[in-house]
Formats: sequence, structure tokens, C-alpha cells
Amino acid sequence: NPLTFTVNQRPDPVSDEDRAAILAKPGFGKFFTDHMVQITWTKDDGWHDAKVTAYGPLQLDPSAAVLHYAQEIFEGMKAYRHADGSVWTFRPEANAGRFARSAARLALPQLPEVDFLASLKALLQVDQAWVPDAGAGEESLYLRPFMFASEAFLGVRPAAKVTYCVIASPAGAYFSGGLKPISLWISKQFSRAGIGGTGSAKCGGNYAASLAAQTEASEHGCDQSVFLDSIEQKWIEELGGMNIFLVYKDGRLVTPALSGSILEGVTRKSILELAKGLDLQPEERRIDIDEWRQGAESGEITEAFACGTAAVVTPVHRLLWDGGEVSFGPSDDAGPVAGRIRQTLLDLQLGKVDDELGWLT
Ligand code: PMP
Repeated sequence: NPLTFTVNQRPDPVSDEDRAAILAKPGFGKFFTDHMVQITWTKDDGWHDAKVTAYGPLQLDPSAAVLHYAQEIFEGMKAYRHADGSVWTFRPEANAGRFARSAARLALPQLPEVDFLASLKALLQVDQAWVPDAGAGEESLYLRPFMFASEAFLGVRPAAKVTYCVIASPAGAYFSGGLKPISLWISKQFSRAGIGGTGSAKCGGNYAASLAAQTEASEHGCDQSVFLDSIEQKWIEELGGMNIFLVYKDGRLVTPALSGSILEGVTRKSILELAKGLDLQPEERRIDIDEWRQGAESGEITEAFACGTAAVVTPVHRLLWDGGEVSFGPSDDAGPVAGRIRQTLLDLQLGKVDDELGWLT
């Protein structure tokens, strides 16, 4: 049976004035709405006690398994306000499916799609005033569902008690003042994930493992690291929080195939599905890092971009490694293909064109 949510309205919500001030300049991930969703799962009783309650600190036993063994997963998606005031999410079933696959990999219980979607709706209904107006930019309310082992027990086994929450945070335009292309460092020292590991799951541990590589990138003056496969250190995988695409002079749009160690991005999947309509030939296959270096040098590869929910499409204009670098595409804006893809996605998400594919909920 689908869960029903109890709503405990917070007695002291943020004032209209303070909320307006936050929404005028939200940044990313700094401010949170008045409420959160919480659902409990136990081995004996399954999912129960679904509620919308005041946003605030959680009480956790110091022996809670997540703090020791990182049995945790999460999702990231956005709610957009259209010009008529209505509020929409983009392909939330895809996030529900990925969340269920992440749960299976981390030996966590699966939350049925219907309950995952209902949890988003329950929070959005109570906190809808926190969804920014569709301004000129791409403001949205970022939704963060997550699930963790809350059982107080130090044994290494799947937890018998688990907590699921959804919190929400208003997000401004990722790029204020124009698109800023990024530079990438090819990390040979660190891998993000390996065969049989957790790379295709959205679990916190993957992000902890990416931080040292991020520091390495910064030390080389780069914005982010691009990860290669862990065995041959040769095949392009992805960035710490975004998938990657290469654009060829002849109209091919190439992205690394899902190898088992790459996260299946909803943005990646959507771009692949939209490509033909934009006169591009989508290809999913293995890509040798040398193909990128040489293609950029010869001019066969004209653009590259990273993609994900947070920034939609982020142009890449420089690739650096131990011993060299290569630049391609404009340094101060998206290339024509990345720009067109970005606008196509945003127009859909913000309701500026008809949702012919039925991607909005
Ligand atoms: N790869 C990683 C490692 C990520 O964390 C994300 C962000 N969820 C992505 C790719 C892009 O996924 P999506 O398009 O679903 O945001």
C-alpha cells in the first residue's frame, strides 16, 4: 500500500520577508526550506511513519551504522516554477529508479517509486513558497532525497533500521553573469570507482573518494578532475559530479558508455535522447583519453561539455595533464552545440516549450 504522509506544520516558519531575501540570492546548498520529509524503515515493519515535519537536526546514536560504514545513498533533482505559477519536476521517475538501484547496491531497502514520488510532492506542497519565481534566469528548488543506516549497531551487516529524508534548498542560476567554461585535470593518481565497486550508485562514499582528486586538480590550477578507468587508466569515465560529452566536427556527440563504474545521469540520458532532434549523432562507447587530446589538437573535436542536474551543461575548454595541455572551444562562453543543448533542456524544464515527451511531473 502506498504510504500516507502526516504533516506537522512548523509553528515558526521563516517570515515572508526573510524568505524573499534568501530567494533573491540563494547561492547553492546554503539555505533550507521550513520542512523535511522523514520515513522510517525497519526489518520487522518495513516502511512506516511517513511524515513532513520541521526542518532541523536529526538525533543519531553515535553508533549509528552510517557513521562507521557509510551505508548511505542520495539523489539530486530540481523543482521549477513555470510562468503560470505551477511547480514541476523533471523526469523524477528516473531519479526514483536510480535511487532503487543505488539502494540495491548498498544493501539498503528499496523505496517504491510511488512513495519516492509522493515524498517529493508532500514536501513541495508544504514548502511551495520556496520554489523561486521563473525569472530571467534558471532559479529552482533543489531537492535532496537521501537514505542512511540509522541502526545503533557496530556490526558490519546491512542495517535493520534505516531513515529516509528529503530536504530542499533554493538554488540560483549556477552561472551568474554568463557561462564560464572550466578546465579539467587528468588524474592518474586517483580513480573514482572500479569494476564491481559502487561507481554506478549514488552513494556518499564515492564523493568522499573524489575529494583528494579535486584537491589535486586545484593544485594544478584546474576546476575539476576527469576520472579515467581504474585498470588501464586510459578510458574516460566522468567528473566527480557530472557526466562528459565530446562534440565532433562532423556532428557526432560522443559520451562514455555506462561501464558499471559511471553514474547514469538523468541529464546525460536526456541529452542522448534529444540529440537526433538537434541534428547530432549520439554515440555511447569507450573513449580513449588520447582520442580527446589528439582530436582537440587536430580540430576534429570542436567542443566538450560536462552535464548534470546542478549546472545543466558546463562547457570545458582546457584539458591538462602531467606534461601538457590542450585548449579547444571558446574560453568565455559555451560552444554552439553545448549552448544549443543547454537551452533546449532549460526551455523544457522551465516550461518555455511544450512538454511533448511527457518529461515533466
Ligand atoms: N555523475 C556523478 C558522479 C554525479 O554525482 C552526477 C550528479 N547526480 C552526475 C553524473 C549527473 O547526474 P544527473 O544528470 O542525474 O544530475
